[in-house]
Amino acid sequence: MRIPGGRLGERWRGGWLGRWGSRWGSPWIRQWVTAASAPDCALCGAPGAIGGLCPPCLVELPRLPQSICARCAAPGPAGEICGRCLVDPPAFDSVLPAAEYAFPVDAMIHRLKFSGALWIAPVLANLLVERVASVRRPDGLVPMPLSDRRLTERGFNQSGEIARLLSRQLGVVVRPNLLRRARDTRPQSGLSFAERALNVRGAFVVDRPVDGLHLALVDDVVTTGTTANEAARALRRCGAQRVDVWVIARTLRMDGR
Ligand SMILES: [Zn+2]
Ligand SMILES: [Zn+2]
Repeated sequence: MRIPGGRLGERWRGGWLGRWGSRWGSPWIRQWVTAASAPDCALCGAPGAIGGLCPPCLVELPRLPQSICARCAAPGPAGEICGRCLVDPPAFDSVLPAAEYAFPVDAMIHRLKFSGALWIAPVLANLLVERVASVRRPDGLVPMPLSDRRLTERGFNQSGEIARLLSRQLGVVVRPNLLRRARDTRPQSGLSFAERALNVRGAFVVDRPVDGLHLALVDDVVTTGTTANEAARALRRCGAQRVDVWVIARTLRMDGR
C-alpha cells in the first residue's frame, strides 16, 4: 500500500496505518481492515454489510412482485390501476413500498417498534432510499403520526425516525409537526376494510396550509391503505398538490383482516 505525500500522508505514516502499511499486501490484514470498516449485518451478523445488510441477506429480502397496482401497490395487473382504486380513488397518488411485509422485514419492523431497537431504523431507511432513488423528490417528508398515548408508551415514533434518516440521505426536509392525530384510534389489525375506514375517519388534522406542495407520507407498514388514505385526505384538504406514500413494507394480503 502506498501512503500519499503531504501533511495527511505524514499523519498517516506516524499512525496505525503507517505501522500496518508495510504488511498491507497480505490477505489477512486486508480482511481485517475491511471487517473493521464495514458494520456487521443486522440479520446474520456477517461482516461486510452494505447499508446494514450483507449481500446474501439483501438478496433474500421479500421483494414485491412486478404485478402490483400502480396506485396502491396491491396485487393486480402490472402497471395498471386495480379495481378498488378505480371505483374509489384514494387520496394518495402512489404507494412506494421497499419490501413485502413478510419475514424477515416484518420481524425487523416489529423489533424496532416493540423492543425499541433503534439501530434497525437506518437499515430499514436504507431500503427505502434505494426504492425511491429514481422517483421525483417531494417538497417535504411527513411522518405518519402516533397518538399522544402511543408516543408516550413507545417513547419514539418509528416513522419519524425513518423520515429523519431519509431526510439526511435525500436532502428533503422533514415536516414533523405538520400532521397530527386528532384522536386516538383502535388498532387497525383485526378490523374489516369498512371498519378500518370508519375507525380512522377524521383521525388526522393538518396544522398549517400546504398549498401546492408535493409531500411524501412516511410510514412503516401499509396493510389495506386506509390509514394512509385518511392521512393523505387531510393533507389534500389543506392544499397538498400531490401525496405519495413511502413505506418500508406493504402486506400483500388484501382481505382487510
Ligand atoms: Zn446477513
Ligand atoms: Zn390500487
